[in-house]
Amino acid sequence: MEYHPENDPKYKGLAVNEGVSSPPLVNPYQKERKKRQSYTPSEYVENILKGNITVLSQAVTLVESQKNEHQAIAQEIIEKCLPYSGNSVRIGITGVPGAGKSTSIDAFGMHLIHELGKKLAVLAIDPSSERSKGSILGDKTRMEDISREANAFIRPSPSAGSLGGVARKTRETIILCEAAGFDTVFVETVGVGQSETAVHSMVDFFLLIQLAGTGDELQGIKRGIMEMADGIIVNKSDGNNIDKAKLAASQYRNALHLFPLPPSGWTPKVLTYSGYYKLGIKEIWDMVYEYVNFTKENGYFDYRRHSQSKYWMYESINEQLRNHFYHSPEIEKELRIKEQQVLSSEISSFAAAKQLLDKYFGENI
Ligand code: GDP
Repeated sequence: MEYHPENDPKYKGLAVNEGVSSPPLVNPYQKERKKRQSYTPSEYVENILKGNITVLSQAVTLVESQKNEHQAIAQEIIEKCLPYSGNSVRIGITGVPGAGKSTSIDAFGMHLIHELGKKLAVLAIDPSSERSKGSILGDKTRMEDISREANAFIRPSPSAGSLGGVARKTRETIILCEAAGFDTVFVETVGVGQSETAVHSMVDFFLLIQLAGTGDELQGIKRGIMEMADGIIVNKSDGNNIDKAKLAASQYRNALHLFPLPPSGWTPKVLTYSGYYKLGIKEIWDMVYEYVNFTKENGYFDYRRHSQSKYWMYESINEQLRNHFYHSPEIEKELRIKEQQVLSSEISSFAAAKQLLDKYFGENI
């Protein structure tokens, strides 16, 4: 045994034993496995078209990444998937927290997968959510039944960012999911704030989940959201709550009569159901498909998709211009100076903006 000063008999109770040398690597394959397999954009697309969920998830991660090199690959993948996309029914689902969105999506998903033989992707838009905060829309643990289904793909909201950015990523993810063979896409959002407008701009049918029994149903709901809805469904119509739910439904129906007929020509329907007890689910999907058939026949379905594509072209331009402006180093520096000058009233906000833009365009033209 080698000499160790600690083993000197004068130190009682201290001894160093000869150890066993550890093998050079615990897992000799670790090195090879550590790196996630990376594909060329064409390989990504090939696998996505085969319905490979693991590769689909990896591609969505690229879509969500902030890194320029990831964005470049993501854009190439999206471009290549585009011809294979569009063949789904896209449904926006909104409702205040506690309305029963996750319970309902779980119930809807099981109905779609098992009764109608569909493949379902569940995406979400929640610009306020950060992955650590817990209330993450689209989180798998909130949808226990469908999270075990091979024909369901669940993806939480891209993490916090500008609404435009988060929404663009979700829209791009829809394209990838469709290319992977998902014929039904849910986009979930909370019924507060601006995110429903973003969801409305990427779906074919907008479903609003409401609750009965608060006494002031019609005050509690923003007119704008109700105007966007193609269907209003009153949840928790079970037990003692059935009559209240029916009453709320008839109040919504009356309120809807006051709105002008939407451009789709479809009069929004109001139904009651119970997501938890799975009552009235079939009727909801009958309604959605009735709408799809109706709008496909009168041309509104394609019209809406086309105007959405146009809208997203402008949104992408706006977003990229904004990003490019705010992230150009010269402007970043200058912004802080101008901000101070505006605060100390040395210069007006308009003059400051003009000078910054002149500087920016001077550099980029
Ligand atoms: P979310 O915040 O909109 O996703 O709502 P959740 O799906 O998490 O539901 C909120 C609460 O309402 C949970 O405690 C559910 O169990 C309950 N809940 C959801 N759907 C129903 C329903 O149809 N009937 C009843 N009685 N409770 C429900």
